[in-house]
Amino acid sequence: MSSELPAYQLKFSARRRSVQLKIQSGQLWVSAPTGCDLQFIQQLIQQKKDWIDKHLSQQQHTTEPGWLAQRQIPLFDDKLELKIVQDTVNQFSLDGDCLWLQLSNRNKNQDKWIEKLVTEFYLQQAKLWFEQEVQLQQQQMSLSSREVRVCNFKAKWGSCDSSGALSFNWRLLMAPAWVAQYVVVHELAHLVHMNHSKSFWALVSQFNQDAAKARLWLKQNQHWMQL
Ligand SMILES: [Zn+2]
Repeated sequence: MSSELPAYQLKFSARRRSVQLKIQSGQLWVSAPTGCDLQFIQQLIQQKKDWIDKHLSQQQHTTEPGWLAQRQIPLFDDKLELKIVQDTVNQFSLDGDCLWLQLSNRNKNQDKWIEKLVTEFYLQQAKLWFEQEVQLQQQQMSLSSREVRVCNFKAKWGSCDSSGALSFNWRLLMAPAWVAQYVVVHELAHLVHMNHSKSFWALVSQFNQDAAKARLWLKQNQHWMQL
C-alpha cells in the first residue's frame, strides 16, 4: 500500500494557469486550472511525493504529543490507562479500561520495558482481532485466506502473499475499527487482484464504503502510530 498517492483536496479555479501544491493544516491541497486533466494532476503528485511526504510529516510531528509519555494508549476508539507497578516480574494484564504493567525492579531501563510490554499486549490483541475480522469479511467476499499473521511492519499496514497468507500491522489497533476493517478488505481483495488496478479498487469498494476516508485517515495519522 506504500506506493499509493497521498490523499489530497482538489480545487479548480478559472483564474489559475498552472497546478499548485500546498501543504496546510497537515493536508495536501491542490489548486488547478478549470478543466485540467486529472491524470496529469495525479502524475504531478506522484512526482512530488517525496517532497509532500516530508512536509506532511514535519507539520504533523510538531502538532501531536507522544501518547506513551501520557501513560495512555489507544485501542480502537477507546483509550486504556497504563497503570505501572513495581514487582519482581515483567508482565501485563488487562482489567477493564486499565492495562496493568508489572515491572521488575531489576530492570535497567524501565521505559524500554514499558514499550516492550505494551507492544506484546498489542500483538496479542491484534492476533485475536484480525483473525476474527478476516473470518467475517472473507465469508462476505466468498474468499478464503490461508493464514493470518500480525507483524511489526515499519512502513506498511498489511500485505498478502501469493500463497494466500495475510499479514497486518498491529499498529492498526490504534486506529478506529472502521479503518482497520478497510485494511482487512484491502488485503483480502489482493487474493483476487495482486495489484492496485481499477478492478482491485472496484472489489474493495464493493465490500467497504469507507476506503477513501480510511486511506486519508491513515495518511494523516500514521506519524503518531509508532511507539
Ligand atoms: Zn495493496
